[in-house]
Amino acid sequence: MSGEGGKDASAEPSALPSLFGEIIGHAPIGVAVIDFDGRYRSVNPAYCKMYDYGESELIGRSFTMVLPVEERELILARHQAFLTEGGTLKGEFAVLRHDGVTLHIVAESVKIPGDNGRGLRLAYVVDVTAYKHLEESLRNVANTYRTLFETVPQGIIYYDLRGNVATANPAALRILEVEFADLIGKNNRAWAWQFTDIGGKPIVADNFPSNIAIRTGKPVRGTVMGFDTSKRGRTWIEVSAVPLVKDGKLDQVYTCFEDITERVILGRALEQKATMDFLTGVANRASVIDQLGAEWDRKRRNPDHHCAVLLLDLDFFKQINDSLGHAAGDAVLKHVSALLTEAVRSADLVGRMGGEEFIVLLRGTALASAFALAKRMCERVAARATDFEGTPIATTISIGASVLRMDDASIDEVLARADHALYAAKDAGRNRALVHADPRASD
Ligand code: GH3
Ligand code: MG
Ligand code: MG
Repeated sequence: MSGEGGKDASAEPSALPSLFGEIIGHAPIGVAVIDFDGRYRSVNPAYCKMYDYGESELIGRSFTMVLPVEERELILARHQAFLTEGGTLKGEFAVLRHDGVTLHIVAESVKIPGDNGRGLRLAYVVDVTAYKHLEESLRNVANTYRTLFETVPQGIIYYDLRGNVATANPAALRILEVEFADLIGKNNRAWAWQFTDIGGKPIVADNFPSNIAIRTGKPVRGTVMGFDTSKRGRTWIEVSAVPLVKDGKLDQVYTCFEDITERVILGRALEQKATMDFLTGVANRASVIDQLGAEWDRKRRNPDHHCAVLLLDLDFFKQINDSLGHAAGDAVLKHVSALLTEAVRSADLVGRMGGEEFIVLLRGTALASAFALAKRMCERVAARATDFEGTPIATTISIGASVLRMDDASIDEVLARADHALYAAKDAGRNRALVHADPRASD
């Protein structure tokens, strides 16, 4: 650093003591000494480098050369006011590098004595252009993120590590039908919502994806949760939770969830169609056989498990078809299906094996109760004629009953026993229930 290059400065001793000058010469920040008229007396290498001028290109010239033209007069006036009146001269400025590129600098000045009592301004200058750009790109990223956060159709909720809501986006409020103020700061263990899994089983707060992620620090994906909303009724969401790590430590967790109610309803309808008898709406043959197989598995694992099987066949059904037509026959099949469904518990299953033959699985039911129920079914069907376009069609059914046995080699055996009993019921005059006369059939 030296002032010797300056024309006017040559009349003055060096503006700074030499050791100090030595230090400033190596300083990473720009330092300039400027006289009252605005002329550079000294500049350090960092200052020259920042503006990309040689030292000799600056010394003796006015510091306003690095300012945008329109600001030169004003800033020179501030510079002179600072030297005469004191005060501070600091702030952030846009200046021009040698090649015309705008730099953003932070400058701070101190007044030092000299120059025949007029004083000199010592300016420290730091180039913050890179920070400015970084700041701007961060601002852009933040803006982009905020826009996404505000507009995505997925609900997003941020939680702290105690499960308190830090923030939530508009979609989250819409899906949960909740106000921002009613959610923020609230703990997810104090939710008013009763969440269930797809099978209807309650999901306890420990098993919320957010709390699993908080506990394990690992992401949780695709948990389906159902809950009730006042406007939309039963609602299904698919939830993922993502842990957020800061400085190597778990800091926050956010959940992202999507309203999948339509998908769940559609899926259930399709599933039901695949297992349903088209005419009557009861289970179809394939699905009953499937369920009976499951009961058989259960019986083999647990001898105490009971499952009764009723095979039912409409009596003289052919006559209805022949005398009143196929549509009347269909109406009778639907009516009998409804009566059977009404007669059983929700755990039981009514199915149509085909034609005018039905099957009923009675879970957890032993033969005696199954037989009693079968008799009631016969009475019920006989008592309740089908109303076919105003014409009552009387019908009766015959039922054969049996139960799953430990030693059944397959479900064919129980079906054969029930069929045998059904055949016997027909033979005995119809409109009745019979159990299979198996000497072992005491369970
Ligand atoms: P039984 O008392 O011995 O059982 O006499 P049934 O007349 O009921 O027995 P059968 O097996 O001779 O007659 C069954 C009739 O069921 C024959 C068939 O036309 C009729 N059927 C089968 N499936 C359907 C259907 O989906 N709709 C209608 N309307 N009739 C059907
Ligand atoms: Mg038949
Ligand atoms: Mg029949």
